[in-house]
Amino acid sequence: MKTDVLIAGCGCAGLYCALQLPEETQILILAKGDVTQSDSFLAQGGICMLRDESDYAGYYEDTMRAGHYENNPASVEVMIRSSQDTIQDLMQYGVSFHREADGSLSFTREGGHSAKRILFHEDMTGKEITEKLLSAARGRKNITIREHCAMTDIICDGNLCCGAVVRDGSGALSVIYAKDTVFACGGIGGLYRHSTNYRQLTGDGVAIALAHGIAVEHINYVQIHPTTLYSEQADERSFLISESVRGEGAVLYNAKKERFVDELLPRDVLTEKIHEQMEKDHMPYVWLSMEHIPREEIKGHFPNIVEHCRKKGYDVFCECIPVVPAQHYFMGGIQVDLSGRTSMKRLYAVGETACNGVHGKNRLASNSLLESLVFAKRAAKAIAKSPAGRLKEDIKPDLEPYRNEAALAERYKNNILKEIARFNS
Ligand SMILES: Cc1cc2nc3c(=O)[nH]c(=O)nc-3n(C[C@H](O)[C@H](O)[C@H](O)COP(=O)(O)OP(=O)(O)OC[C@H]3O[C@@H](n4cnc5c(N)ncnc54)[C@H](O)[C@@H]3O)c2cc1C
Repeated sequence: MKTDVLIAGCGCAGLYCALQLPEETQILILAKGDVTQSDSFLAQGGICMLRDESDYAGYYEDTMRAGHYENNPASVEVMIRSSQDTIQDLMQYGVSFHREADGSLSFTREGGHSAKRILFHEDMTGKEITEKLLSAARGRKNITIREHCAMTDIICDGNLCCGAVVRDGSGALSVIYAKDTVFACGGIGGLYRHSTNYRQLTGDGVAIALAHGIAVEHINYVQIHPTTLYSEQADERSFLISESVRGEGAVLYNAKKERFVDELLPRDVLTEKIHEQMEKDHMPYVWLSMEHIPREEIKGHFPNIVEHCRKKGYDVFCECIPVVPAQHYFMGGIQVDLSGRTSMKRLYAVGETACNGVHGKNRLASNSLLESLVFAKRAAKAIAKSPAGRLKEDIKPDLEPYRNEAALAERYKNNILKEIARFNS
Protein backbone atom coordinates (compact mmCIF):
# COMPACT_ATOMS: atom_id res chain seq x y z
CA MET A 1 0.00 0.00 0.00
CA LYS A 2 1.02 3.58 -0.40
CA THR A 3 -0.25 6.92 0.79
CA ASP A 4 0.88 10.53 1.07
CA VAL A 5 0.58 10.69 4.86
CA LEU A 6 0.39 7.72 7.20
CA ILE A 7 -0.94 8.48 10.68
CA ALA A 8 -0.51 5.75 13.31
CA GLY A 9 -3.25 6.50 15.82
CA CYS A 10 -6.89 7.49 15.65
CA GLY A 11 -7.38 9.50 18.84
CA CYS A 12 -8.00 13.24 18.87
CA ALA A 13 -4.39 14.02 17.82
CA GLY A 14 -4.35 11.70 14.79
CA LEU A 15 -7.83 12.68 13.64
CA TYR A 16 -7.34 16.42 14.02
CA CYS A 17 -3.97 16.24 12.24
CA ALA A 18 -5.66 14.43 9.32
CA LEU A 19 -8.47 16.99 9.17
CA GLN A 20 -6.01 19.89 9.07
CA LEU A 21 -4.12 18.49 6.05
CA PRO A 22 -5.13 19.66 2.56
CA GLU A 23 -8.07 17.76 1.05
CA GLU A 24 -5.93 16.69 -1.93
CA THR A 25 -3.51 14.82 0.35
CA GLN A 26 -4.19 11.07 0.59
CA ILE A 27 -4.19 10.08 4.26
CA LEU A 28 -4.31 6.68 5.90
CA ILE A 29 -5.06 6.51 9.63
CA LEU A 30 -4.40 3.31 11.59
CA ALA A 31 -6.11 2.33 14.83
CA LYS A 32 -4.68 -0.54 16.85
CA GLY A 33 -8.08 -1.52 18.20
CA ASP A 34 -11.44 -0.19 17.10
CA VAL A 35 -11.76 3.54 16.64
CA THR A 36 -13.51 4.12 19.95
CA GLN A 37 -10.68 2.52 21.94
CA SER A 38 -8.51 5.59 22.37
CA ASP A 39 -7.87 7.54 25.56
CA SER A 40 -9.35 10.56 23.79
CA PHE A 41 -12.75 8.90 24.23
CA LEU A 42 -12.13 8.58 27.97
CA ALA A 43 -11.30 12.19 28.81
CA GLN A 44 -13.82 13.19 31.43
CA GLY A 45 -12.90 16.52 32.97
CA GLY A 46 -12.62 18.84 30.00
CA ILE A 47 -10.40 21.03 27.89
CA CYS A 48 -8.75 24.29 28.92
CA MET A 49 -9.26 27.57 27.13
CA LEU A 50 -7.81 31.00 27.77
CA ARG A 51 -10.97 32.93 28.71
CA ASP A 52 -9.51 36.39 28.15
CA GLU A 53 -6.24 38.28 28.40
CA SER A 54 -6.68 38.85 32.13
CA ASP A 55 -6.21 35.10 32.72
CA TYR A 56 -3.09 34.64 30.54
CA ALA A 57 -0.57 35.15 33.35
CA GLY A 58 -2.55 32.89 35.73
CA TYR A 59 -2.98 30.10 33.19
CA TYR A 60 0.70 30.25 32.20
CA GLU A 61 1.83 30.21 35.84
CA ASP A 62 -0.49 27.31 36.78
CA THR A 63 0.87 25.22 33.87
CA MET A 64 4.47 26.02 34.79
CA ARG A 65 3.96 25.43 38.52
CA ALA A 66 2.29 22.07 37.92
CA GLY A 67 5.21 21.16 35.62
CA HIS A 68 7.77 22.12 38.32
CA TYR A 69 8.99 24.87 35.95
CA GLU A 70 10.61 22.20 33.74
CA ASN A 71 8.15 23.07 30.93
CA ASN A 72 9.30 24.49 27.62
CA PRO A 73 8.05 28.12 27.92
CA ALA A 74 7.64 28.47 24.13
CA SER A 75 5.37 25.38 23.97
CA VAL A 76 3.27 26.64 26.88
CA GLU A 77 2.83 30.01 25.22
CA VAL A 78 1.85 28.47 21.86
CA MET A 79 -0.66 26.14 23.54
CA ILE A 80 -2.37 28.87 25.55
CA ARG A 81 -2.37 31.41 22.72
CA SER A 82 -3.86 28.82 20.30
CA SER A 83 -6.58 27.64 22.68
CA GLN A 84 -9.41 29.96 21.58
CA ASP A 85 -8.91 29.16 17.87
CA THR A 86 -8.80 25.44 18.65
CA ILE A 87 -12.09 25.60 20.55
CA GLN A 88 -13.64 27.59 17.69
CA ASP A 89 -12.49 24.84 15.27
CA LEU A 90 -14.01 22.16 17.50
CA MET A 91 -17.34 23.96 17.66
CA GLN A 92 -17.30 24.17 13.86
CA TYR A 93 -16.97 20.38 13.77
CA GLY A 94 -20.13 20.29 15.91
CA VAL A 95 -18.62 19.83 19.38
CA SER A 96 -20.94 21.14 22.06
CA PHE A 97 -19.79 22.38 25.46
CA HIS A 98 -21.89 22.98 28.54
CA ARG A 99 -23.45 26.46 28.62
CA GLU A 100 -24.94 28.74 31.28
CA ALA A 101 -28.61 29.68 31.24
CA ASP A 102 -27.74 32.87 29.27
CA GLY A 103 -26.08 30.78 26.53
CA SER A 104 -22.49 31.65 27.43
CA LEU A 105 -19.89 28.86 27.82
CA SER A 106 -19.64 27.29 31.31
CA PHE A 107 -16.22 26.85 32.87
CA THR A 108 -15.18 24.47 35.62
CA ARG A 109 -12.00 24.06 37.67
CA GLU A 110 -9.66 21.21 38.50
CA GLY A 111 -6.63 20.67 40.75
CA GLY A 112 -3.73 23.08 40.17
CA HIS A 113 -5.90 25.72 38.45
CA SER A 114 -6.20 29.13 40.11
CA ALA A 115 -9.33 29.97 38.06
CA LYS A 116 -12.24 28.32 36.26
CA ARG A 117 -11.04 27.90 32.65
CA ILE A 118 -12.07 24.36 31.69
CA LEU A 119 -14.81 23.70 29.14
CA PHE A 120 -16.71 20.45 29.49
CA HIS A 121 -19.47 18.28 28.08
CA GLU A 122 -21.00 16.45 31.05
CA ASP A 123 -18.20 14.12 32.18
CA MET A 124 -17.61 12.89 28.63
CA THR A 125 -15.78 15.80 27.01
CA GLY A 126 -13.29 13.57 25.20
CA LYS A 127 -16.01 11.39 23.71
CA GLU A 128 -17.92 14.45 22.49
CA ILE A 129 -14.79 15.90 20.84
CA THR A 130 -13.45 12.68 19.35
CA GLU A 131 -16.79 11.45 18.01
CA LYS A 132 -17.25 14.73 16.15
CA LEU A 133 -13.70 14.61 14.74
CA LEU A 134 -14.21 10.99 13.73
CA SER A 135 -17.43 11.79 11.97
CA ALA A 136 -15.76 14.71 10.11
CA ALA A 137 -12.86 12.44 9.08
CA ARG A 138 -15.26 9.77 7.87
CA GLY A 139 -16.93 12.40 5.69
CA ARG A 140 -13.65 13.26 3.94
CA LYS A 141 -12.86 11.39 0.70
CA ASN A 142 -9.10 11.73 1.16
CA ILE A 143 -9.05 10.06 4.60
CA THR A 144 -9.13 6.27 5.05
CA ILE A 145 -9.28 4.71 8.51
CA ARG A 146 -8.09 1.13 9.07
CA GLU A 147 -9.11 -0.38 12.40
CA HIS A 148 -7.34 -3.29 14.12
CA CYS A 149 -4.19 -2.47 12.22
CA ALA A 150 -1.05 -1.78 14.25
CA MET A 151 2.20 -0.20 13.20
CA THR A 152 4.93 -2.60 14.31
CA ASP A 153 7.94 -0.68 12.96
CA ILE A 154 8.94 2.03 10.52
CA ILE A 155 10.90 1.61 7.31
CA CYS A 156 13.72 4.05 6.74
CA ASP A 157 16.39 5.07 4.30
CA GLY A 158 19.12 6.27 6.65
CA ASN A 159 17.54 9.04 8.70
CA LEU A 160 14.54 9.38 6.38
CA CYS A 161 11.24 7.76 7.35
CA CYS A 162 9.56 6.09 4.38
CA GLY A 163 6.52 4.40 5.93
CA ALA A 164 5.76 1.52 8.25
CA VAL A 165 5.39 -2.21 8.70
CA VAL A 166 1.88 -2.99 9.94
CA ARG A 167 0.02 -5.99 11.30
CA ASP A 168 -3.70 -6.29 10.56
CA GLY A 169 -6.42 -7.97 12.64
CA SER A 170 -5.74 -11.36 11.04
CA GLY A 171 -2.05 -11.13 11.97
CA ALA A 172 -0.90 -10.52 8.36
CA LEU A 173 2.08 -8.21 7.95
CA SER A 174 2.45 -5.66 5.19
CA VAL A 175 4.37 -2.52 4.29
CA ILE A 176 2.78 0.90 3.81
CA TYR A 177 4.90 3.41 1.91
CA ALA A 178 4.31 7.04 2.85
CA LYS A 179 5.85 10.39 2.01
CA ASP A 180 5.26 11.55 5.59
CA THR A 181 4.55 9.50 8.70
CA VAL A 182 2.94 10.75 11.91
CA PHE A 183 3.05 8.90 15.22
CA ALA A 184 -0.16 9.59 17.17
CA CYS A 185 -0.14 6.39 19.22
CA GLY A 186 -1.14 7.82 22.61
CA GLY A 187 0.34 6.92 25.99
CA ILE A 188 2.07 4.01 27.68
CA GLY A 189 -0.52 2.96 30.31
CA GLY A 190 -0.83 -0.54 28.86
CA LEU A 191 2.65 -1.27 30.20
CA TYR A 192 1.43 -0.82 33.79
CA ARG A 193 -0.69 -3.13 35.95
CA HIS A 194 -2.87 -0.24 37.21
CA SER A 195 -3.65 2.43 34.66
CA THR A 196 -6.60 4.48 33.48
CA ASN A 197 -5.46 4.00 29.85
CA TYR A 198 -6.72 1.47 27.33
CA ARG A 199 -4.68 -1.71 27.66
CA GLN A 200 -3.52 -1.63 24.02
CA LEU A 201 -1.78 1.73 24.48
CA THR A 202 1.69 0.36 25.03
CA GLY A 203 3.87 3.23 23.81
CA ASP A 204 4.60 1.56 20.44
CA GLY A 205 5.75 4.83 18.88
CA VAL A 206 8.20 5.39 21.72
CA ALA A 207 9.51 1.81 21.49
CA ILE A 208 10.05 2.20 17.74
CA ALA A 209 11.77 5.56 18.31
CA LEU A 210 14.13 3.95 20.85
CA ALA A 211 14.91 1.11 18.45
CA HIS A 212 15.90 3.60 15.71
CA GLY A 213 17.81 6.06 17.86
CA ILE A 214 15.16 8.78 17.37
CA ALA A 215 15.47 11.34 20.19
CA VAL A 216 13.13 10.97 23.16
CA GLU A 217 12.67 13.36 26.08
CA HIS A 218 11.51 13.25 29.72
CA ILE A 219 10.80 9.55 29.25
CA ASN A 220 10.63 8.98 33.01
CA TYR A 221 7.94 11.65 33.55
CA VAL A 222 4.90 9.48 34.10
CA GLN A 223 1.84 10.93 35.81
CA ILE A 224 -0.11 9.03 38.41
CA HIS A 225 -3.73 10.20 38.81
CA PRO A 226 -4.64 10.58 42.48
CA THR A 227 -8.22 9.34 42.30
CA THR A 228 -9.35 6.20 40.47
CA LEU A 229 -12.07 3.89 41.75
CA TYR A 230 -10.50 1.13 43.83
CA SER A 231 -11.16 -2.35 42.48
CA GLU A 232 -9.99 -5.74 43.69
CA GLN A 233 -9.71 -6.96 40.07
CA ALA A 234 -6.09 -6.39 39.09
CA ASP A 235 -6.39 -6.68 35.28
CA GLU A 236 -9.22 -4.15 34.95
CA ARG A 237 -8.61 -0.69 33.42
CA SER A 238 -8.73 1.70 36.38
CA PHE A 239 -11.82 3.93 36.27
CA LEU A 240 -11.03 7.60 36.71
CA ILE A 241 -12.84 9.78 39.21
CA SER A 242 -12.21 13.08 37.49
CA GLU A 243 -10.46 15.93 39.17
CA SER A 244 -13.42 18.15 38.43
CA VAL A 245 -15.41 16.16 41.01
CA ARG A 246 -12.96 17.55 43.56
CA GLY A 247 -13.06 20.90 41.77
CA GLU A 248 -16.79 21.00 42.43
CA GLY A 249 -16.32 20.22 46.13
CA ALA A 250 -15.75 16.48 46.71
CA VAL A 251 -13.50 15.78 49.70
CA LEU A 252 -11.04 13.03 50.62
CA TYR A 253 -11.26 11.17 53.92
CA ASN A 254 -8.93 8.82 55.75
CA ALA A 255 -10.06 5.53 57.29
CA LYS A 256 -11.67 7.45 60.20
CA LYS A 257 -13.62 9.58 57.69
CA GLU A 258 -11.59 12.72 58.54
CA ARG A 259 -10.28 15.13 55.90
CA PHE A 260 -6.50 14.89 55.60
CA VAL A 261 -5.47 17.02 52.59
CA ASP A 262 -6.26 19.97 50.29
CA GLU A 263 -8.01 18.09 47.47
CA LEU A 264 -6.96 20.63 44.82
CA LEU A 265 -3.21 20.26 45.15
CA PRO A 266 -1.38 19.44 41.87
CA ARG A 267 -1.70 15.76 40.96
CA ASP A 268 1.78 14.60 41.89
CA VAL A 269 1.67 16.27 45.32
CA LEU A 270 -1.83 14.97 46.08
CA THR A 271 -0.84 11.45 44.97
CA GLU A 272 2.04 11.50 47.44
CA LYS A 273 -0.26 12.64 50.28
CA ILE A 274 -2.78 9.89 49.48
CA HIS A 275 -0.05 7.23 49.43
CA GLU A 276 1.21 8.47 52.80
CA GLN A 277 -2.33 8.31 54.23
CA MET A 278 -2.92 4.79 52.84
CA GLU A 279 0.27 3.68 54.56
CA LYS A 280 -0.74 5.29 57.87
CA ASP A 281 -4.18 3.68 57.67
CA HIS A 282 -2.85 0.32 56.42
CA MET A 283 -5.52 0.51 53.71
CA PRO A 284 -5.33 0.00 49.90
CA TYR A 285 -7.47 3.14 49.34
CA VAL A 286 -8.82 6.37 50.85
CA TRP A 287 -12.41 7.59 50.73
CA LEU A 288 -13.92 10.23 48.46
CA SER A 289 -17.18 11.89 49.40
CA MET A 290 -19.46 13.97 47.18
CA GLU A 291 -21.72 14.92 50.10
CA HIS A 292 -20.97 18.66 49.69
CA ILE A 293 -21.93 18.79 46.01
CA PRO A 294 -25.60 19.52 45.29
CA ARG A 295 -27.44 16.41 44.03
CA GLU A 296 -28.51 18.14 40.80
CA GLU A 297 -24.90 19.18 40.09
CA ILE A 298 -23.69 15.59 40.52
CA LYS A 299 -26.43 14.26 38.24
CA GLY A 300 -25.95 16.90 35.55
CA HIS A 301 -22.16 17.13 35.52
CA PHE A 302 -21.05 13.57 36.31
CA PRO A 303 -23.64 11.12 34.94
CA ASN A 304 -21.00 8.71 33.66
CA ILE A 305 -19.22 8.53 37.03
CA VAL A 306 -22.55 8.10 38.89
CA GLU A 307 -23.53 5.25 36.57
CA HIS A 308 -20.16 3.47 36.70
CA CYS A 309 -20.09 3.64 40.51
CA ARG A 310 -23.69 2.38 40.65
CA LYS A 311 -22.72 -0.65 38.54
CA LYS A 312 -19.86 -1.32 40.97
CA GLY A 313 -22.28 -1.18 43.92
CA TYR A 314 -21.73 2.41 45.17
CA ASP A 315 -24.40 5.09 45.47
CA VAL A 316 -22.38 8.32 45.28
CA PHE A 317 -25.37 10.35 46.54
CA CYS A 318 -25.30 8.80 49.98
CA GLU A 319 -21.97 7.04 50.52
CA CYS A 320 -18.22 7.50 50.11
CA ILE A 321 -16.37 5.64 47.34
CA PRO A 322 -12.90 4.06 47.72
CA VAL A 323 -10.24 5.72 45.54
CA VAL A 324 -6.58 4.97 44.82
CA PRO A 325 -3.88 6.53 42.60
CA ALA A 326 -3.07 4.84 39.21
CA GLN A 327 -0.84 5.49 36.16
CA HIS A 328 -2.61 8.01 34.00
CA TYR A 329 -0.54 10.12 31.64
CA PHE A 330 2.86 10.24 29.95
CA MET A 331 4.46 13.69 29.96
CA GLY A 332 7.58 12.42 28.19
CA GLY A 333 7.79 10.94 24.74
CA ILE A 334 9.36 11.38 21.34
CA GLN A 335 11.19 14.69 21.25
CA VAL A 336 9.55 17.13 18.86
CA ASP A 337 9.79 20.79 17.94
CA LEU A 338 6.82 23.16 17.98
CA SER A 339 5.58 21.62 14.72
CA GLY A 340 5.81 17.99 15.75
CA ARG A 341 9.05 17.28 13.85
CA THR A 342 11.11 14.43 15.33
CA SER A 343 14.84 13.93 14.89
CA MET A 344 14.12 11.70 11.86
CA LYS A 345 13.26 13.37 8.56
CA ARG A 346 9.62 13.20 7.44
CA LEU A 347 8.60 11.63 10.75
CA TYR A 348 6.31 13.63 13.04
CA ALA A 349 4.85 12.85 16.47
CA VAL A 350 1.73 14.39 18.01
CA GLY A 351 -0.45 13.92 21.09
CA GLU A 352 0.59 11.95 24.14
CA THR A 353 3.28 10.02 22.21
CA ALA A 354 5.17 13.25 21.61
CA CYS A 355 7.07 15.51 24.00
CA ASN A 356 7.38 19.18 23.16
CA GLY A 357 7.97 19.96 26.82
CA VAL A 358 4.63 21.67 27.36
CA HIS A 359 3.83 19.73 30.54
CA GLY A 360 7.30 19.74 32.10
CA LYS A 361 7.49 17.21 34.93
CA ASN A 362 3.77 17.06 35.61
CA ARG A 363 0.73 17.86 33.48
CA LEU A 364 -1.82 20.40 34.63
CA ALA A 365 -5.33 18.91 34.47
CA SER A 366 -7.20 19.33 31.16
CA ASN A 367 -4.16 20.58 29.26
CA SER A 368 -3.61 17.37 27.31
CA LEU A 369 -6.59 17.38 24.94
CA LEU A 370 -5.71 20.98 24.15
CA GLU A 371 -2.00 20.24 23.70
CA SER A 372 -2.78 17.23 21.47
CA LEU A 373 -5.00 19.34 19.21
CA VAL A 374 -2.87 22.50 19.05
CA PHE A 375 0.32 20.69 18.08
CA ALA A 376 -1.43 18.18 15.77
CA LYS A 377 -2.66 21.14 13.73
CA ARG A 378 0.83 22.65 13.67
CA ALA A 379 2.28 19.33 12.47
CA ALA A 380 -0.34 19.19 9.69
CA LYS A 381 0.58 22.73 8.60
CA ALA A 382 4.29 21.82 8.63
CA ILE A 383 3.67 18.72 6.50
CA ALA A 384 1.56 20.71 4.04
CA LYS A 385 4.27 23.38 3.74
CA SER A 386 7.26 21.04 3.35
CA PRO A 387 8.54 20.28 -0.17
CA ALA A 388 6.72 17.30 -1.72
CA GLY A 389 8.23 14.00 -0.60
CA ARG A 390 8.86 10.92 -2.72
CA LEU A 391 7.64 7.36 -2.14
CA LYS A 392 10.56 4.95 -1.69
CA GLU A 393 8.96 1.73 -2.81
CA ASP A 394 12.29 0.08 -3.48
CA ILE A 395 12.78 -0.47 0.28
CA LYS A 396 11.74 -4.09 0.95
CA PRO A 397 12.10 -4.90 4.66
CA ASP A 398 12.48 -8.46 5.90
CA LEU A 399 9.18 -9.18 7.70
CA GLU A 400 10.49 -12.27 9.52
CA PRO A 401 11.54 -10.44 12.75
CA TYR A 402 7.95 -9.19 13.21
CA ARG A 403 6.17 -12.55 12.95
CA ASN A 404 6.25 -13.35 16.68
CA GLU A 405 3.89 -10.65 17.95
CA ALA A 406 4.15 -11.53 21.65
CA ALA A 407 7.96 -11.56 21.63
CA LEU A 408 8.08 -8.20 19.84
CA ALA A 409 5.60 -6.66 22.32
CA GLU A 410 7.67 -7.97 25.24
CA ARG A 411 10.88 -6.54 23.73
CA TYR A 412 9.29 -3.14 23.14
CA LYS A 413 7.85 -3.09 26.68
CA ASN A 414 11.18 -4.01 28.29
CA ASN A 415 13.05 -1.40 26.27
CA ILE A 416 10.70 1.39 27.39
CA LEU A 417 10.65 0.33 31.04
CA LYS A 418 14.46 -0.06 31.04
CA GLU A 419 14.85 3.45 29.63
CA ILE A 420 12.44 4.87 32.23
CA ALA A 421 14.38 3.11 35.00
CA ARG A 422 17.70 4.40 33.58
CA PHE A 423 16.50 8.00 33.76
CA ASN A 424 14.99 7.48 37.22
CA SER A 425 18.20 6.13 38.67
C1 LIG B 1 -9.49 8.20 31.87
C2 LIG B 1 -8.82 9.38 31.26
C3 LIG B 1 -9.33 10.66 31.46
C4 LIG B 1 -8.73 11.77 30.88
N1 LIG B 1 -9.28 13.00 31.07
C5 LIG B 1 -8.73 14.07 30.45
C6 LIG B 1 -9.35 15.35 30.52
O1 LIG B 1 -10.38 15.52 31.14
N2 LIG B 1 -8.77 16.38 29.86
C7 LIG B 1 -7.61 16.25 29.14
O2 LIG B 1 -7.13 17.23 28.58
N3 LIG B 1 -7.02 15.03 29.03
C8 LIG B 1 -7.55 13.95 29.66
N4 LIG B 1 -6.96 12.73 29.54
C9 LIG B 1 -5.77 12.59 28.69
C10 LIG B 1 -6.17 12.63 27.22
O3 LIG B 1 -7.35 11.89 27.03
C11 LIG B 1 -5.09 12.04 26.33
O4 LIG B 1 -3.84 12.55 26.67
C12 LIG B 1 -5.33 12.38 24.88
O5 LIG B 1 -6.63 11.98 24.53
C13 LIG B 1 -4.31 11.68 24.02
O6 LIG B 1 -4.75 11.73 22.69
P1 LIG B 1 -3.91 10.96 21.59
O7 LIG B 1 -4.64 11.19 20.31
O8 LIG B 1 -2.49 11.35 21.68
O9 LIG B 1 -3.98 9.42 22.02
P2 LIG B 1 -5.22 8.42 22.14
O10 LIG B 1 -6.50 9.15 22.15
O11 LIG B 1 -4.94 7.50 23.25
O12 LIG B 1 -5.16 7.63 20.76
C14 LIG B 1 -4.12 6.74 20.50
C15 LIG B 1 -4.43 6.01 19.21
O13 LIG B 1 -3.26 5.33 18.78
C16 LIG B 1 -3.61 4.03 18.36
N5 LIG B 1 -2.39 3.20 18.45
C17 LIG B 1 -1.64 2.87 19.52
N6 LIG B 1 -0.61 2.12 19.15
C18 LIG B 1 -0.69 1.98 17.80
C19 LIG B 1 0.05 1.29 16.83
N7 LIG B 1 1.15 0.58 17.14
N8 LIG B 1 -0.36 1.34 15.54
C20 LIG B 1 -1.47 2.02 15.17
N9 LIG B 1 -2.22 2.70 16.06
C21 LIG B 1 -1.84 2.67 17.35
C22 LIG B 1 -4.72 3.63 19.29
O14 LIG B 1 -5.46 2.56 18.76
C23 LIG B 1 -5.51 4.94 19.32
O15 LIG B 1 -6.34 5.02 18.19
C24 LIG B 1 -7.55 11.60 30.11
C25 LIG B 1 -7.03 10.32 29.91
C26 LIG B 1 -7.65 9.22 30.48
C27 LIG B 1 -7.07 7.87 30.27
